[in-house]
Amino acid sequence: TPLSDATLGRLPGTVRRPRYDRARLSPGIVHIGLGNFHRAHQAWYLHRLMDDGAAQDWAILGAGVRPADAAQRARLRGQDCLTTLIELAPSGTSAEVTGPMIDFLPVEDGNAALIARMAEPDIRIVSLTVTEGGYYRDASGGFDADDPDIRHDAANPQTPRTAFGAMVAALRRRRDTGAGPFTGLCCDNLQGNGAVLRRTVVSLARLSDPDLADWIDATCSFPNAMVDCIVPATGPKEIALAQGFGIDDAAPVTHERFRQWVMEDEFCAGRPEWERVGVTFTDDVHAYEMMKLRLLNAGHQLLANAGELLSVETVAGCMEHPGLRHFFQTVEMQEIAPEVASVPEMSPQDYVALIVRRFSNAAIVDTTRRVAFDGSSRHPGFLHPTIRERLASGRGIDGLALAEALWARMCTGLREDGSEIVPNDPRWDHLVAAAQEARTRPAAWLESTGLYGDLAHDRRFAEAFQAWLSQLHRDGTSPILERFAART
Ligand code: NAD
Repeated sequence: TPLSDATLGRLPGTVRRPRYDRARLSPGIVHIGLGNFHRAHQAWYLHRLMDDGAAQDWAILGAGVRPADAAQRARLRGQDCLTTLIELAPSGTSAEVTGPMIDFLPVEDGNAALIARMAEPDIRIVSLTVTEGGYYRDASGGFDADDPDIRHDAANPQTPRTAFGAMVAALRRRRDTGAGPFTGLCCDNLQGNGAVLRRTVVSLARLSDPDLADWIDATCSFPNAMVDCIVPATGPKEIALAQGFGIDDAAPVTHERFRQWVMEDEFCAGRPEWERVGVTFTDDVHAYEMMKLRLLNAGHQLLANAGELLSVETVAGCMEHPGLRHFFQTVEMQEIAPEVASVPEMSPQDYVALIVRRFSNAAIVDTTRRVAFDGSSRHPGFLHPTIRERLASGRGIDGLALAEALWARMCTGLREDGSEIVPNDPRWDHLVAAAQEARTRPAAWLESTGLYGDLAHDRRFAEAFQAWLSQLHRDGTSPILERFAART
């Protein structure tokens, strides 16, 4: 029998289910971008709070602005908007049915229903997960007023096609009716994500109504927030996992046990008491972001470039490779952690121990290919700043130089077993050309990728990098990882 309010009572006793009466919940949040991550992360925190008897007036209304979201709406409404969360912990798998979302708004051209609902005073937070690329930023990170969607919404502010156009239209009504501002809460993986959301919404409003833009900027809040939880996509395997628990869920979500949500306490129209269920409120989200980007996201690059060369398919598989695991731990502990500041709950060394455990979880199938994606933005964003800081203070960069050499070797486009690496970067052709040239002249990688800036001419870095890349081409990845281990 399909999952529904009516069948909740018949689920096996091993499945945890909502302890609150869903019929008594009333909405407070509209969430745009009802993929997997929201349901495993933000919605779970709210669910736990509701289990505790709190936040019964903060239920979620799901929403989507893309035609493809209609299918998700049908799936979720077909099961009373319930979601099964399946936790994949090394110690075992468990399932829980969650119900903080009570409806999914119509997905339609012009977004009339979404705008009307966001204009009602009971909605006090509009949250989003629309992917990192969904914020209409240009190459330099600024607002992209030339994007066709943005031009459309500027010319047709009553019938927008973007989430931001819908927010602007709803805020216009709220200003005019006296319903007041709401909080825009970005839950995408972007540095300074609240500031990014504010800029997109305010800049779009300014194109059609400068007074409204000023009102939004002055009255709405857009807290910066750092989100973390590894949540794979759902396919037949995940649906079968739910069935194994006796649950017929059309869209279950799997996730790791670890979750983190750190945000600024800036909510112009109130918020649920999330601090009661493990959310950290702080004025210094930046410090938590730096810890995550420099250690976790950079760590993914340390593993994935070598993992691709060695044809290791998953992050957990990379952590099982002795040479690669040693390389990862040594670079993280000896070269990166000393450059990262502590946060109140954790030192960078404890954070490394935590990600070693998370990355080693073989129940989570996170592919090397996914993690190796977009090196041309990830290496400059996550690794190069640490290299610069260490060079400036005269500290060693041997392992980080090897990480860059592994990336340059990966970008030749062939694994060591001769198989081809499917393009995994927007600048792939350019990177392959530079990597090929660097086979015989390693400095070519630093010069012609255009991604290293001053680092390309730093003698200590360039020499270490060139030595590692020549050795990688001559001897192969595993022997070089062993040589690195012998030196450290
Ligand atoms: P998903 O593919 O399951 O869902 C993405 C959702 O965003 C869909 O509803 C889609 O329709 C919508 N969307 C995509 N592009 C859009 C656009 N341009 N405008 C409006 N809506 C758009 O992905 P997910 O796993 O839910 O992840 C979503 C985001 O959450 C990620 O991009 C990331 O920023 C953040 N996040 C995810 C994870 C994870 O492990 N999955 C971890 C941390 C953060």
